[in-house]
Amino acid sequence: MRNRIYLDHAATTAVTPEVLEAMLPYFTESYGNPSGVYATGREAHRAMDQARREAAAALGARPQEIYFTSGGSESDNWALTGAAMARRDRGNHIITSAIEHHAVLHTCQALEKQGFQVTYLKPDSRGYVAPEALEQAIRPETILISLMAANNEIGTLQPAAAYGEIARSRGIPFHTDAVQAMGAIPIDVEAWQADLLSLSAHKFHGPKGVGLLYIRKGTRMDAMIHGGAQERRMRAGTENVPGIVGMGKAMSLAADRIPERAARVGALREYLIRGLREAIPGVRLNGHPSDRLPGNVHVTIPDMDGEAMLLRLDLAGIAASSGSACTSGSVDPSHVLEAIGLSPAETRSSLRMTLGEENTEAEMNEVIRVLSAIVADLRAMRE
Ligand SMILES: *Cc1c(COP(=O)(O)O)cnc(C)c1O
Repeated sequence: MRNRIYLDHAATTAVTPEVLEAMLPYFTESYGNPSGVYATGREAHRAMDQARREAAAALGARPQEIYFTSGGSESDNWALTGAAMARRDRGNHIITSAIEHHAVLHTCQALEKQGFQVTYLKPDSRGYVAPEALEQAIRPETILISLMAANNEIGTLQPAAAYGEIARSRGIPFHTDAVQAMGAIPIDVEAWQADLLSLSAHKFHGPKGVGLLYIRKGTRMDAMIHGGAQERRMRAGTENVPGIVGMGKAMSLAADRIPERAARVGALREYLIRGLREAIPGVRLNGHPSDRLPGNVHVTIPDMDGEAMLLRLDLAGIAASSGSACTSGSVDPSHVLEAIGLSPAETRSSLRMTLGEENTEAEMNEVIRVLSAIVADLRAMRE
């Protein structure tokens, strides 16, 4: 069963045919262990080297600074734990924000149990975490700063380069979760002065279960997985060769056409927002009005039940999300919406629609028509 209109690109995306095609030989013909000295192992190793070069090129990094992982969550866990543990002789204070992905927040909570102190910077009502707030939170014992580049729920873009500049000037390593940024805005580890940067392939038309952590040369880090010598002895285990090949391909495709994609998807986003405002009385946009991910539409429709709207949208063949995918299904209201000041009732009546390049204006018209009918119907039922 398929949704005819897919508006949940922040949760995951389809693998591009070109990416799939690049991966296939590494399941069958070139199945060798990349550590093997024989031909099929060497083929796998060469393919991984190529993927590492593609990934590095897309980030302005060097291939030796790319470490493949199992995805965004692992990369975030590793960045925080690996850097905190390697630097605990220098201090025990970490700075992050209240609107990070759970992969960052829950790792911070685990580190707090081990004696680290964490400051959670507060965003303003648009979800923007000001560099000044970072500046003020720094202490002599601060050993790590982790602030995301773009928010996965409300789409607000953050000033990564400003964070990086502050961190560098104080000699503190800077990690950024750029999972939502890849393919949407240009990423450059030099311009951002990032020391650690997380990505996940399935958010930009690569396969699920593969990601990477960029680790700037010279950054003190503990290993993620102990074992063999893979990933320069930092992340042991026989590599996910097809996944890594797919990620490399998806990265070069994503990095290639950022301005064109952002313009096209951004125009669709504005079209959808305008249409919803005209068709649905009282609808409010969450997140920043302009500094937001090209594909992110996050709205509150007063007095509506988000889950009820989602179910009806699904019946009409439209896939959307009520909060972030990680929080829907659980009863906890979204920590991001809470942090930007939405009440529990407003949080419950919120909807996230994240667009991709394959969406069309005709689909937006359909979404506007269907959603306004759903809202009118639910409102009528209550009266
Ligand atoms: C999806 C996402 C993650 C987690 O990535 P996975 O590969 O699914 O583990 C982390 N951070 C952000 C901002 C995300 O959107």
